[in-house]
Amino acid sequence: MSNLPLEIVEMFGQTIAKVVPITIVLALVFSVLTHFWACNPSAPWWRKRELVTDICYWFFVPLLARVLRIGLLVLGASAILNIRGADELIAFYDNGHGPLSELPLWFQGLLFLVLSDLMLYWLHRMFHGGGFWKYHAIHHSSEELDWISAARFHPVNLFLGTIAVDVILLMAGISPNIMLWVGPFTTFHSAFVHANLNWTLGPFKYVLATPVFHRWHHTALEQGGNTNFAGTFPIWDILFGTFLMPENQLPDGYGKDEQAIPSEIVGQLAYPFRHQRAD
Ligand SMILES: [Zn+2]
Ligand SMILES: [Zn+2]
Repeated sequence: MSNLPLEIVEMFGQTIAKVVPITIVLALVFSVLTHFWACNPSAPWWRKRELVTDICYWFFVPLLARVLRIGLLVLGASAILNIRGADELIAFYDNGHGPLSELPLWFQGLLFLVLSDLMLYWLHRMFHGGGFWKYHAIHHSSEELDWISAARFHPVNLFLGTIAVDVILLMAGISPNIMLWVGPFTTFHSAFVHANLNWTLGPFKYVLATPVFHRWHHTALEQGGNTNFAGTFPIWDILFGTFLMPENQLPDGYGKDEQAIPSEIVGQLAYPFRHQRAD
């Protein structure tokens, strides 16, 4: 365990090396797309007031998610599944386990996307209520919503959101190999739904979450803030009565409910705990 700090530094390096090229591609793609199809008139993403805050989350969140996901999986594999030796752990991490891991990889990937999206829909609704809102309010604090805002999540929100859901499904047996294409898909798609684009995808608006769909979710509560909770598949909002896509109207004005939230990352990370004391 003595070289754990070194391993974390190494993992940090690997994560940065992965994130940088993806970021350059996304930056180029969304700069071009928003030039032609902007949803709201606003400065380009690189002139956002809180750009530094978003860039910090952009690099910090994948690293935190990776460390926690691997840590929890190793812990869960040993405590619940009794998988302990290094070779067994590597085999588990490479291939999954049990009947689910025997299914074709594309089907496991699809199953993962659908099941995780359903769980995340309900977790998202949970975060919009009561004591959980102060953590999720950080995500809603972006006033200049754009693709780079996609990673702005408080660690508590991240932990009781994507990380918990990933670990549950991987512990259930789905092979972590599916992350090879599920990972890039969710990264691209979450940047896409936050991008300043007026795209609804026509009839496919019921199939896949679009920028207009998710930007409604980021508007003030009385406008659309309590609708469109689905991350990827709007079917959950249609089924559970929270779908909102008004015809011939575009969402406008984001993060207005959150004026008390600091604009830099350290203040934002502390915000839910300070808020608790002030109650
Ligand atoms: Zn939300
Ligand atoms: Zn969002």
